Amino acid sequence: MDYYYSFNKYLRKTFSTKVHRIGLNAGFTCPNRDGTLSRDGCIFCNEKGFSHFAGTALPLKTQIETSMDFLKDRFNAEKFIAYFQNATNTYAPIDKLRESYDTIRSFPDIVGLYISTRPDCIDREKLDLIESYSGDYDVWIEYGVQSAHDATLEKMGRSHTFSQSLNAIKETSRRKIKVGAHVILGLDKETKEDVIHTAETLAKLPISGVKFHALHVLRDTRLERLFKKGDIALPELSQYVGLVCDFMERLSPECVILRLVSDAKKEVLVAPGWINGKQAVIEEVKNEFKRRMTRQGVYYRPV
Ligand code: SF4
Repeated sequence: MDYYYSFNKYLRKTFSTKVHRIGLNAGFTCPNRDGTLSRDGCIFCNEKGFSHFAGTALPLKTQIETSMDFLKDRFNAEKFIAYFQNATNTYAPIDKLRESYDTIRSFPDIVGLYISTRPDCIDREKLDLIESYSGDYDVWIEYGVQSAHDATLEKMGRSHTFSQSLNAIKETSRRKIKVGAHVILGLDKETKEDVIHTAETLAKLPISGVKFHALHVLRDTRLERLFKKGDIALPELSQYVGLVCDFMERLSPECVILRLVSDAKKEVLVAPGWINGKQAVIEEVKNEFKRRMTRQGVYYRPV
């Protein structure tokens, strides 16, 4: 039984074949790091923790070729999604963005363009550009929403508010672009009611997918310092599973679950270790839905 609408299911339905996502580092930076908004970054951010190519300066073309070769050899992969993953992937002059996104046009096996960014780094010109790929590709923008609570966003050092996420989501959804919302669960001091409020708020918005991230500590971050001082608690696996189920129960059954849990490279992960046991998390989520006798969407209230 399918308890939720997984990303794999969405890909099979859309492309009728297995599609692999290639995480890319286009060399963009972030206004929350370069001094425009802040020099501190979000409290959990370690840029080395992003894609496989984090910390490298390889040309995009080489990154794509290397990943495709690997995935073709290992999994007989045929189709691919170019996922602009590192840092803020709409934070550059429009010509630089066009040049970066256009790289995918040299690869006929690429079928999707996914762009991860902050909600305060988008405008009409950038949306026009991104929409221009929609005739040839499955186009998504994934916004780092994280929470619908401004107090939480402030504690995380995000340097944006929820109303900026709201505006970005609404503006983007008017285009031929699918909107994904990146959400962090297990945030210190956020109650179950806070999480449910974020879920119910997002469920009323024109989003096509949600990507879940379990709060975790990476090396060389402000969160690591807080964690080591005992100032921040991390979610246990059972707590996280409960929150993910609470959240999904309130989303539309049509909303794609782009990811159930984040993982992290071993060399930068401090805690909790369970996030890297992805299959175990998936099993626990299924067991929890079974125990509750619920599934994604049971408490969804269409607007
Ligand atoms: S917005 Fe993204 S890239 Fe920028 S500091 Fe936060 S997590 Fe890092």
